[in-house]
Amino acid sequence: MQIINPATEEIITSLEEDTIFTLETKLALLKTAQPAWANQTLSERISVITKFSSLLEAEIEELAAVLTSEVGKPLQQSRNEVNGARARIKWMLANAEKYLADEVMVDEPGLKEVIRYEPLGVVCNISAWNYPYLVGVNVFIPALLSGNAVMYKPSEYATLTGLQIEKLLKQAGIPNDVFQIAVGAKETGAALMEMDFNGYFFTGSYITGKLIYEKVAAKMVPCQLELGGKDPLYVAEDIADVVSTAINTADGAFYNNGQSCCAVERIYVHENNYEAYVNAFVAEVNGWTTGLPTTDGVYLGALTRKDQIAVLENQVKDALNKGARLLTGGKAVDGKGYYFEPTVLTNVTNDMLVMQEESFGPIIGIMKVQDDTEAIKMMQDTSYGLTASVYTSDQTKAEKILARLDAGSGYWNCCDRVSAALPWSGRKHSGIGATLSHQGLRAFTKTKGYHLRG
Ligand code: NAD
Repeated sequence: MQIINPATEEIITSLEEDTIFTLETKLALLKTAQPAWANQTLSERISVITKFSSLLEAEIEELAAVLTSEVGKPLQQSRNEVNGARARIKWMLANAEKYLADEVMVDEPGLKEVIRYEPLGVVCNISAWNYPYLVGVNVFIPALLSGNAVMYKPSEYATLTGLQIEKLLKQAGIPNDVFQIAVGAKETGAALMEMDFNGYFFTGSYITGKLIYEKVAAKMVPCQLELGGKDPLYVAEDIADVVSTAINTADGAFYNNGQSCCAVERIYVHENNYEAYVNAFVAEVNGWTTGLPTTDGVYLGALTRKDQIAVLENQVKDALNKGARLLTGGKAVDGKGYYFEPTVLTNVTNDMLVMQEESFGPIIGIMKVQDDTEAIKMMQDTSYGLTASVYTSDQTKAEKILARLDAGSGYWNCCDRVSAALPWSGRKHSGIGATLSHQGLRAFTKTKGYHLRG
């Protein structure tokens, strides 16, 4: 498997892909090693993960450089990602005892009733490339903390980062056979689906997620899916400052080149703010620098996947054919590397691909709405349900609107953010189950109810 730098199209290296035989061998090792890992105390496992987090901090420059080389994001955004992963780990470490310890539900003379959180066993984590540290940490850290062994399949676009993670986990003290990495692309993922794991945790697209859910159903083991989104944002009539709203929300749409599951993908603006908002938004977008992700000051690096350029071009073409206006951008950048101009479309309607299908790139449609009612209707018009955001001076109004939207996260005066303390979950085509928060710590366990008489 060739690893290609999307910013230069140079081959970084070639790696040997796993075969069914090597995957079976790794699974056998995981199964043998897991009980001893589960038998260690939680505080022993916490100390290993604490060491892992320190190693991330110590190696951050090297890790960021490798991540940038294979996914094309600006170096500073790679550093931000490693630091973000450390912040999540910190929350998990601080809360593991609280949420994984036994819970005594009844304690009376002659009877004790206790809930115990036991590990699932050997879990399979098939992962995405856009934030490999963040989405990886959401799964393999709580899985390991709660005593599971993990088969981790990084995306084929972030394999070098996956290998770095494996190296540092082992350096931190995770026993060799408790964490294994599956190297490869779609075929490797498909092979893992034929094997016998005690749980499947997937981050990726709806199309692959649906396939995985169908496969796991027959196995009758837990399956969690963190999938894509078409996240809407509404700018209401009563916002305090239209320029700062435009600047913040533009970042929410374009950070990481729009390749975030919770990137703002559709914007609805109250008609009284529309013109001022669009002008400030376009001015902000035109102020950014696109280019080599290793150059200081670059905000938009390369797209990770070459194929996405055709998807974006098709969305622009479809929108223009249906009457949209192109205010800036609209095409790939000439030359080496997978670059796409930051693109803003107005006069859009909800029947356009750019307002319905996940773009996962530096492109946004902005639509004028008459009032809150129309905004709610438009925001709700999607098969996805990951996040939704409302900008207004009125918290009560924001919460009322958010309550009516079928999304796993609701934002008031913010967007494109994740908190380790809150469940990260999608509804409809955006996923099933939750990572992060106490739910995410317990997602890798099965409960046993102890009825203790005597
Ligand atoms: P993808 O579905 O193409 O691939 C995800 C993983 O699945 C990869 O490791 C891939 O090799 C593997 N895979 C592909 N086909 C498979 C098959 N048939 N069987 C088993 N495994 C298979 O997604 P991607 O391009 O890596 O990631 C981008 C998507 O992930 C976007 O839709 C994005 O929104 C979503 N995402 C969601 C979250 C979230 O938390 N909700 C986070 C990050 C990314």
